[in-house]
Amino acid sequence: MVADWIEQGLPIRVVEPEPVSREQIALAHERSYVDGVLDCVLPNGFRGRQKDVADSLPWTSGSYLSAARCALNNGLVACSPTSGFHHAGPESGYGYCTFNGLMVAALALKAEAKVSRIGILDCDEHYGDGTAGIIDKLGIDWIRHVSEEYEDASAAKRFLDTLPAVVRGCVGCDLLMYQAGADQHIDDPLGGFLTTAELAERDRIVFSVAKEIGIPVVWNLAGGYQQPLARVLEIHRNTMAACVLVFVN
Ligand SMILES: [Zn+2]
Repeated sequence: MVADWIEQGLPIRVVEPEPVSREQIALAHERSYVDGVLDCVLPNGFRGRQKDVADSLPWTSGSYLSAARCALNNGLVACSPTSGFHHAGPESGYGYCTFNGLMVAALALKAEAKVSRIGILDCDEHYGDGTAGIIDKLGIDWIRHVSEEYEDASAAKRFLDTLPAVVRGCVGCDLLMYQAGADQHIDDPLGGFLTTAELAERDRIVFSVAKEIGIPVVWNLAGGYQQPLARVLEIHRNTMAACVLVFVN
């Protein structure tokens, strides 16, 4: 994805991420689950115990936390080119999600007193049950978590009409975490209700309203299952283009 953005001439700066530690992952998950997955004893979100998946996990959540720090520092925006977070709950994962990088980052930043309140706008097609599960288990009241599943194209207008108010509802948050899922596309085999143009409009609204109310945005890719993969890349390319249009003058 990053290679595609660069190839397209989008003005992005690539920053090396730092991996998260087991202790940081354990802010959001049971330590036994964290150790079990990373030591390839317990199944990961792909329902396997692959070492390459385990080895990647400190880097995916680490990319997300690094990008969140970057957005807080520049006050505008940063992207983590990662997926696979929101179905990961306190002690289990599924649906390609092992550890919840959104919640790991939120809890790490909160522990460092870098944030007071956070908004999570989850525009993946599927409900962020893992995120909700962690928020519930830890009794968190400082995160505004917005995640909803939409049935079909009839919801598109209502979704786009209410989106500005949804983003404005994050006033008072120090950071907006935006999951720009490509599986909200109407042709996605795992659901979806928006056309390519409507997805681009979704992205434009989120970025421009966040900028207007002065909340930095960290965003990531989330789901997207169309074949060939070029169709998913096109959606993520549009998201980065919207980001550049809003934030780069
Ligand atoms: Zn999804």
